[in-house]
Amino acid sequence: MQMCISRYQIKIYGIVQGIGFRPHVFRLAREYGLTGWIQNNSTGVIIEAEGPEVRLKRFIQAVIEEPPPLAVIRSWEAKPVEVRGSDQFCIIASDDQEDKAVMISPDIALCEDCRQEVLNRSDRRCGYPFTNCTNCGPRYTIIQDVPYDRAKTTMSGFPMCPDCQKEYENPLHRRFHAQPNACPVCGPQIFLTDGQGNKVEKDPRELLKAGNIIAVKGLGGFHLAADASIRQAVTRLRKRKKRDKKPFAVMVRDIETARKHCMINLEEERWLLSRQAPIVILNRLEDSALAGDEIHPGLDTLGVMLPYTPLHYLLFDHELEILIMTSANISDEPLIIDNDEAVEKLNEVADYFLLHDREIYNPCDDSVMRVNSQNTAQMFRRARGFVPAGITIPVLTEPVLAVGGEMKNTFCITRKGDAFLSQHWGDLNHYNNYVNFQAGVSRFKQMLNVEPLIIAHDMHPDYQTSRWARGQKDIRKLAIQHHHAHMASAMAENQLQEEVLGLICDGTGWGTDGAIWGGEIFRGDYCGFTRLAHLKYMPLPGGDVTADRPYRMALVYLYRTLGDKGLRLAEELLPDLTREESELIIRRLDNGKEPLTSSCGRLFDAVSAILGICTVNRYEGQAPAELEAAADKYEIDHYAYQLEKEEGIWLMDVLPMWQDLLPDIENYQNRGRIAKKVHLTLAEMFKDTLLKIREAEGINQVVLSGGVFNNQLLLTRVYELLSGQGFAVYYNQLVPSGDGGISLGQAMIASEVIK
Ligand code: ZN
Ligand code: ZN
Ligand code: FE
Repeated sequence: MQMCISRYQIKIYGIVQGIGFRPHVFRLAREYGLTGWIQNNSTGVIIEAEGPEVRLKRFIQAVIEEPPPLAVIRSWEAKPVEVRGSDQFCIIASDDQEDKAVMISPDIALCEDCRQEVLNRSDRRCGYPFTNCTNCGPRYTIIQDVPYDRAKTTMSGFPMCPDCQKEYENPLHRRFHAQPNACPVCGPQIFLTDGQGNKVEKDPRELLKAGNIIAVKGLGGFHLAADASIRQAVTRLRKRKKRDKKPFAVMVRDIETARKHCMINLEEERWLLSRQAPIVILNRLEDSALAGDEIHPGLDTLGVMLPYTPLHYLLFDHELEILIMTSANISDEPLIIDNDEAVEKLNEVADYFLLHDREIYNPCDDSVMRVNSQNTAQMFRRARGFVPAGITIPVLTEPVLAVGGEMKNTFCITRKGDAFLSQHWGDLNHYNNYVNFQAGVSRFKQMLNVEPLIIAHDMHPDYQTSRWARGQKDIRKLAIQHHHAHMASAMAENQLQEEVLGLICDGTGWGTDGAIWGGEIFRGDYCGFTRLAHLKYMPLPGGDVTADRPYRMALVYLYRTLGDKGLRLAEELLPDLTREESELIIRRLDNGKEPLTSSCGRLFDAVSAILGICTVNRYEGQAPAELEAAADKYEIDHYAYQLEKEEGIWLMDVLPMWQDLLPDIENYQNRGRIAKKVHLTLAEMFKDTLLKIREAEGINQVVLSGGVFNNQLLLTRVYELLSGQGFAVYYNQLVPSGDGGISLGQAMIASEVIK
């Protein structure tokens, strides 16, 4: 009987390059006895396979249904082509020509196979800090262009030795076509220098144990490392870095060490051990031996990550098990990625430098997340391990560039059904961050091979991103309201397209009436929104100055609640407030000169200040973070509030809360209980307002977004109350709820507009 021979061409799109896809398919083809070829091209991979029809069908099924672990198949197509009579299956060189739609893989934490090699004394890679394979290693941070080939990465200057080349060419080897493949003979090398950049021969572990601070060149930038168990070392680092309150993250030797200091549930463990290896914010154990007041002052949580490169593993031993690992940038400036720059800028901070000779091309911070009470991950900073993977969005769009906000800036470019969010660029008021942002936009456009048709930016006329957008010639622009973008980001992530109610609790954002918004309830979708409720306006003395100085907002609430008595109370309770400053603020309030705000963030600031928890912010969001940390676990009461309707909009008024709260303070009630009651009051008020709105509007889906929802206490309570009332509740997860996520929302709105 003659078998029916066919040939199929299969095109596969998604993350299918640099993760062992071709050797995997090669092995499968051999297993099924097929001939033909596989090739990387700029859109993904293309396969031609020839053999008996039945076996071909099974082969295609196996390729699609059981891809290698790191592959993400977005779509695929297979069609019969003319039989060629090929006699073997082979892997052919990349094709540069086609439409560049490939997806670049994020950096991947060291895999177990490679880790074993690094630890194995008889392996040729024993102790080698740049060991990697197709399942792990650097990707995005070293890639200069697509398609992804060694020549287009910062590994191009390290030609492979014969041993590595052999692995690279062997389709059955774990390092087959592993572009950054390297060994001690041919790959990058590390070296240690003193504070002035002079090479020294010392063991970094011994230096750390002696309390030294070492600047370590990592995957996406420099870290400052210090032994977290030595209090003086941590104190010195804090002093030298002039970071007087902001919490430090730690890297622990292994998950067992993490358990000595933190509570870890299954989901948290899964993320800690994941290939993205983010910093996970964990609840600290009360009996942890660490100097909590130095590492995370005022908070009961600790940011923890596990080693994710071989270099990191080499920083630990049986005595050294927990290191401070904080980004080595100077205050709000960009990550440092260059050796010379590191020595120049950090010589007064670091005692030693652990450097290497591989260039970092794309700077990328550690990602930061938390697992919330619904056991889902909530991203605070989406960067290493996640960028530049695409986020599936519920619509197919024309290419859009959305330039995000001002602080924690990210931008977003869409390509068909995916949104590509950049890493965080930080505060764009710093010139170097702004420069990096612009370079990032060009690199993303090149990497994705798209030319956006529209630029979406925030409505705030003075944001650097808005100015930048205005300066771009010959392209359409669209200004988008800040909280509409927050809402759209949460909708997109949850694949929502129909109209929703949006509860947006945020620090700041330019409103359509010129006020500073931030405690809003909208009805809307990507096309538009109607404002249905907001926190009742309060004056915001001096605009942005007040964001750094919560005591100023406390004065406003005190004065509005109790008049002159409030003023006297303010002088008593707010030591940072001078008579001069308070008189100035009051005079301007009385004259109605101040801008108005409905900001929920500023409300939390005011409460934090009045309770003496945090009166001046030393880092963004400090006052509300410490207020949340101070909240009593067992308190279940809340204060009063008032809802009134004015011109069709519900005004959520918290002055009744202040009227109840101030006597509590005067009666020396425990401030933890007051802090908790404030959280519960807001949650109740939002629920009541949403119930009234649902009745009128008939919409049952609510999305929660905005930076204030990083607050777990508020998120959890709002979620419980709304779910209890039968609302379908959604919120941001792998895209930040804060301003790091608004570029996604802007992109969604703009893509709807250009349709
Ligand atoms: Zn590996
Ligand atoms: Zn080698
Ligand atoms: Fe915001």
